[in-house]
Amino acid sequence: MFDTKDLPEKAKRIFDLLIEVFEEQNINPTPLNYFVWYQYYKGDNPKFRQEMDTILNDPFGYNDRVGKRLYDEYLTEDDKEDSDFDRAFRRLMDAMIKKMDFWSCKLSKHTKEIDDCTNKLSDPNINAEEVKKITNSILTSATSMKESSMALQEEMANSSETAYELRQQLVEARAEAMRDELTDVGNRKAFNNSIEELMFDAKDNPNSLYLVMADIDNFKEFNDTYGHLVGDSVLRYFASIMKKTKGDNETICRYGGEEFAILMAESTLEQAIERAEGIRKDIQAAHLKQRNSDKPLKTITSSFGIARFHGDKDDAKDFLERADNALYLAKKKGRNQVVDEDQLLAEQATDSKR
Ligand code: GH3
Ligand code: MG
Ligand code: MG
Repeated sequence: MFDTKDLPEKAKRIFDLLIEVFEEQNINPTPLNYFVWYQYYKGDNPKFRQEMDTILNDPFGYNDRVGKRLYDEYLTEDDKEDSDFDRAFRRLMDAMIKKMDFWSCKLSKHTKEIDDCTNKLSDPNINAEEVKKITNSILTSATSMKESSMALQEEMANSSETAYELRQQLVEARAEAMRDELTDVGNRKAFNNSIEELMFDAKDNPNSLYLVMADIDNFKEFNDTYGHLVGDSVLRYFASIMKKTKGDNETICRYGGEEFAILMAESTLEQAIERAEGIRKDIQAAHLKQRNSDKPLKTITSSFGIARFHGDKDDAKDFLERADNALYLAKKKGRNQVVDEDQLLAEQATDSKR
């Protein structure tokens, strides 16, 4: 079973929020609205997100009609990155729209019938027999209209239920797709999503988002000495140390191999350094033993590179590269240490003077 506490921060936020927001703001839980809001919180499309932000500043700004317009304008393009659930929502929604069209045709047909009857009734030369006939027609149309509208309501309720079910499945599938199986932290995909989201959130607030890249030292040698399975348990242990001390604004991911990334939102450089130092000391201090023989394993050390997000003009590639370069410098300087972007710059400046 997945544990919601290990769900990537953003995904968790989306699903918790959707339920609350819809109830609070009286938004119809239709598949279209779910899809639009889900995309909004997912935040992959900054333009769409900006427009939603503006709409949401107005307390009556969002309704079903606005949702449909946003969907047509921003969200109809087939995105290769779409998950199965994006597609399922889309299908459900398309079916709903077709049904709505069907019912609204039916309703306008009845409305027209009633209009015609009313016109006939206003004829001054009408006789009693005709009045009776027309009144009967009106009654029949009105009854059909009522039935149609009740059937429509039922369809809507059913679709809402399907949307709720889909949302549940979405929560589970997302969590599964974003999790690293071995270490039970976010995987590379989760990292890619998170970094974009967090950068977007921090674009007007530079120096508040930090990326800490961690890499286990000489891990190849460790694997060669003890075997891959023991190596795997060290990776799990390393991740567990990070999870145990995880802060509220952190996203922890396995970036690949024996490399982990921590994104720290609303933080300072000092906090990021302190966080990295904490992990570095914890792993070095661990007394790991071989399961069968109880023999102590070699001490594990790790190196860290820290980069700061520079704001609007920065991009994920550069941000990552700075963290990578800082990590590389930590390795070069002898491993088992933390290097941040400022130290990297200072080092590069000294190198260029030489
Ligand atoms: P450095 O201190 O420079 O980081 O040296 P290193 O040996 O850690 O780095 P290198 O990139 O040469 O080797 C990384 C090793 O990590 C290679 C591979 O055996 C090991 N590794 C990668 N993924 C896994 C995994 O899922 N399980 C295990 N057991 N080992 C892994
Ligand atoms: Mg390594
Ligand atoms: Mg590595």
